[in-house]
Amino acid sequence: MHSLIIVSNRLPVKVKETIEKSSGGLVSALEGLGDQYDLQWIGWAGGVVDDQQKRQEITTELKERFNFTPIFLSQEDVDDYYTGFSNSSLWPLLHYMPCNARYEDKWFQKYREINQLFADKILEQAEPDDIIWVQDYHLMLLPAMLRKVKPDMTIGFFLHTPFPSYEIFRCLPNREELLEGLLGADLIGFHTFGYLRHFRSTVLRILGIESEIAYIPVEHHRCAIDVFPIGINTQGFQNFIDSPAFSRRLKALRKIYAGKKIILSVERLDYTKGIPHRLEAIDRFLEKTGRKDVIFLFISVPSRQTVPEYRELRQEVELKVSQINGKHSTIGQVPVHFLFRPVLPEELCALYVLADAAVVTPLMDGMNLVAKEYIFCQQEKSGVLILSEFAGAAQELPYASIVNPYNVRQIADAIQQALEDSEEEKKRRLEPMKKRVAKYNAQFWAKSFLKTLTSKDEKETPIETLVLTQKALAPLQDASRPALFIDYDGTLAEITNLPENAAPSGEVEQLLFSLASQDQFEVYIIAGRRRQEMDRWFSKFRLNLIAEHGYCYKEKGSGRWVVLVPDADLSWKDQLREYLNLFTAMTPGSFLEEKTASLVWHYRNSDPEFGEWKARQLVSELQEMLSNLPVEIHHGKKNVTIVSIHANKGSTIYHLLASNQYDKALCAGDDETDESMFRLSDNAIIGVKIGDKEETEAEFRCSSPKAFRALLNKLLSRPKNTAPLKKTEVFTVNRSNQS
Ligand code: UDP
Repeated sequence: MHSLIIVSNRLPVKVKETIEKSSGGLVSALEGLGDQYDLQWIGWAGGVVDDQQKRQEITTELKERFNFTPIFLSQEDVDDYYTGFSNSSLWPLLHYMPCNARYEDKWFQKYREINQLFADKILEQAEPDDIIWVQDYHLMLLPAMLRKVKPDMTIGFFLHTPFPSYEIFRCLPNREELLEGLLGADLIGFHTFGYLRHFRSTVLRILGIESEIAYIPVEHHRCAIDVFPIGINTQGFQNFIDSPAFSRRLKALRKIYAGKKIILSVERLDYTKGIPHRLEAIDRFLEKTGRKDVIFLFISVPSRQTVPEYRELRQEVELKVSQINGKHSTIGQVPVHFLFRPVLPEELCALYVLADAAVVTPLMDGMNLVAKEYIFCQQEKSGVLILSEFAGAAQELPYASIVNPYNVRQIADAIQQALEDSEEEKKRRLEPMKKRVAKYNAQFWAKSFLKTLTSKDEKETPIETLVLTQKALAPLQDASRPALFIDYDGTLAEITNLPENAAPSGEVEQLLFSLASQDQFEVYIIAGRRRQEMDRWFSKFRLNLIAEHGYCYKEKGSGRWVVLVPDADLSWKDQLREYLNLFTAMTPGSFLEEKTASLVWHYRNSDPEFGEWKARQLVSELQEMLSNLPVEIHHGKKNVTIVSIHANKGSTIYHLLASNQYDKALCAGDDETDESMFRLSDNAIIGVKIGDKEETEAEFRCSSPKAFRALLNKLLSRPKNTAPLKKTEVFTVNRSNQS
């Protein structure tokens, strides 16, 4: 049986004189998996334990009783990692509250340090086939830390908060590192599609990585993304409802609140929960209706009282409650009952059962379990759920009374309506929500996440092209006249933001040197670049060069470029230049590059979505405008190329194959302009597309320039078994005999 290692900031235990296991939704969801996995849990045990002997005792007891492994934090760790970066920097930003966000460098340093502490503990413990499931925003760096040491580890990550828009997430000074940390996972789960959408757009804008709806390609693996709305522990709640303690409590509460209508609010005292706005709505409701039979019962669970914003909120809320009570109370009748403490689960269930309505109006909330718990507990009557549209749960509970939590008038009206609705109407709305909450519970959530995580291997290659292996290159080794036609940008070297920054260096230069100093293969660098650039970068290597997508050619050892179609008509460039300049002006960050036989409009440095939109518009307009001209239009990687039909990699290779009688040729490229090589119907060709995503007519695929370089190095390191090649022929082509 595989181990499932759950990793969360806190272990689900309370460590006091004795150790007690707590019973949150996550615990019960995971306990249901006990028959499939050997469950382990790693997390902070809570509090600060400095005494080594005490730490040892806790570790032993947690291991023996629950298979839990504690992480111990010092007071400074708690202050900087937990209270600091997690709860004072990340939490407010993930909930769209930049005004509440504070940041200190030392907090982030500690966050990184503690994530590493977790990583070390996991690596110490995990066996090769174990599954790691990391929970929540406290541990965003952890997936990449694990991946770095164990590239094949199965790692899932679930974010229990919202993921905000890019405009908010970009406020974080360490945004790149956090995103890269998350992308170390094999699967990232979100509560709603909206959060997933924001994550993709943030990854695109901050890391420049384009993604598919279901995954994000990362250097060595694919990070799947999906939506798994968390559910509640339905069995746990049913057990409470069936208990004698619950019945006793319900009976007592019915007596206390006889003749009253109860409107319930339950939450941690957190500024994301919209409590001041709700109190204002209650004030307005009481003013408008003058009702004396309605009690607003607040269960406000103390939370994060070491963070100043939470202490200030408590003062604000308590002041507002006393103002409302001062204004609307009569002798024996106080409208707002405010409890600043948690209640026992049996009492909570009794309150859910008793309440005529629950008002759940967070300003932003990843899911909100209270909303689902209230629905589940409506077993005797049909209570009304008034629910914020900004809670993740609103996506699943559309029959609730959905309100905008900033609109206090709307909340006040919704409360009034809830008290006036007929039983029939309330039941009609409640039933479908009850069914959904009962079916998609916490166990369902955990199972569906793990099912997706563990089936990742089956989904690894969505496009059916063979993966390039050393074996696939063997025919080159056996050929008597083999040649290599290798594109440069995106094939041999990684794409850079500015084309001029892509000069060969380090590993690429070393490979070019190896290619130039062997005589087993005739090598051609076939790029879209201008002659001058190719001279600057490659003249020190003894290699054949083909520039401008096949428009001109320079044989190795020769100092002369030969234009292959000297009489090509290029007058269309003058017609187009002004039009393309207009697009450049309209699209900040874009620029026009002029080559002899082509015009290239680059938008790599523009806003990614705006650039893509403008590029599509340009391509569609050009297709109409240029239908009678001797040009081709290619929508490449962050560029649109308008190129003479005579500058074509495919036709240049076609002539070189014929004139040099190559019997095998590797053609490697990464973008649309390289497809003309792959389309050549010649048995001699081995086509290799670099990159996993786009469609291709190549026979093989290689994931990245780095992987391709590794294969080329292996190819070159094999012993030579053919005679050195004869010098290639220089040729020019007239338009009339073009293929
Ligand atoms: N809760 C609790 N004790 C209480 C009041 C509430 O354990 O006195 C639980 C409640 O049942 C719910 C959780 O706290 O499961 C709150 O979860 P929610 O998703 O609503 O908000 P969060 O606190 O995670 O932001």
